[in-house]
Amino acid sequence: MRRRIYLDYNATTPVAPEVLEAMLPFLRDRFGNASSVHWEGQVAKQAVDDAREAVAAFLGVEPREIVFTSGGTEADNLAVQGIARQYAWRGRHVLVSAIEHPAVLEAAKALRHEGFDVETIPVTADGVVDLDRFQEMLRPDTILVSVMAANNETGVIQPVEAIGAVCREREIYFHVDAVQAVGKIPVEPRRWGCDLLSLSAHKIYGPKGVGALYVRQGVDLTPILYGGFQERGRRSGTENVPGIVGLGAACRYIAERWMAEAERLAELRDRWEAELRREWPDVWVHGQRAPRVPNTSMFSLPGTDGEALLIRLDLEGVAVSTGSACSSGRLEPSHVLQAMGVPPEVVRGSIRVSLGRDTTWDDLATLLGVLREVVGAVGG
Ligand code: PLP
Repeated sequence: MRRRIYLDYNATTPVAPEVLEAMLPFLRDRFGNASSVHWEGQVAKQAVDDAREAVAAFLGVEPREIVFTSGGTEADNLAVQGIARQYAWRGRHVLVSAIEHPAVLEAAKALRHEGFDVETIPVTADGVVDLDRFQEMLRPDTILVSVMAANNETGVIQPVEAIGAVCREREIYFHVDAVQAVGKIPVEPRRWGCDLLSLSAHKIYGPKGVGALYVRQGVDLTPILYGGFQERGRRSGTENVPGIVGLGAACRYIAERWMAEAERLAELRDRWEAELRREWPDVWVHGQRAPRVPNTSMFSLPGTDGEALLIRLDLEGVAVSTGSACSSGRLEPSHVLQAMGVPPEVVRGSIRVSLGRDTTWDDLATLLGVLREVVGAVGG
């Protein structure tokens, strides 16, 4: 059997050996509850504090501004619902971009049942939030704007700094989902002028089920979980100590490597897309004219079926994705490509390749060969 080739790093990444090493003691003998007063508890608390410092240093913020969560989804829910509920007295208008991850879109949609007016900001054909439309949509009762830093499907980088400047001027809370930006581009909440920012460990060689929300000092949140007042009451529940330690270690791991890695992956991605165009001149590379994170290439081979291609590629030992991995298993076409105005028959043929730590040119050359073989077989 052929060695498997994993090209789905936007869905998740393997845990780095350094991260695993850091976590293991907290899965073995250092099992204390970080809220306990005794020695075992304090060992755990120290580890949580160290991880908080690592995450804060990575983002250039203060440790007290970091709230640990169960992942990107919870961080997004806490940001969107926590701000809306806290500041409902100021207004009930919420804006989210049309290409947000479901963790933001669905959290916002759920607010409609509470009387909030939730609207989606359109994107251009290149998959970038339309800044003119954004400005037109702002109202005196707008309290929250949520726009991701980089899209998980296309990799397109969003103009968060420009949006942040507008929000700041109008005193509107601004949340950035940076889950797919971390480890790929500089992530700078202070420069972006955002009040809240989500990240997730498993996209940066950390464990699944742990993430963090940056909450700028002075910003209050209504919690979505109530209980023992951990995380200063912002997120109750016994701390996931091994996971949090893993997130801290993943931030350290990625901080040392991401720049060199971004350069390497951008070269691979560009070479890959050049080959793709040579082989299939009618290929659509989604978001190709916009700035993109270096590791992501989403394309459509017109006349093919992405789902069928994915299954054939999997049988041949290559793991890719169609649209968002988080929403795979659902048959709905990508809401991101739809928002970009991509015709349905082209959306149908979309495949996302996302590169990472172990990707080499050989992997992409193999994918190209396999694609050549299977496109004829599953086309139409
Ligand atoms: N936001 C974005 C942009 C994502 O890509 C994902 C996961 O794919 C999430 C949020 C959810 O993060 P988690 O899997 O940690 O819940």
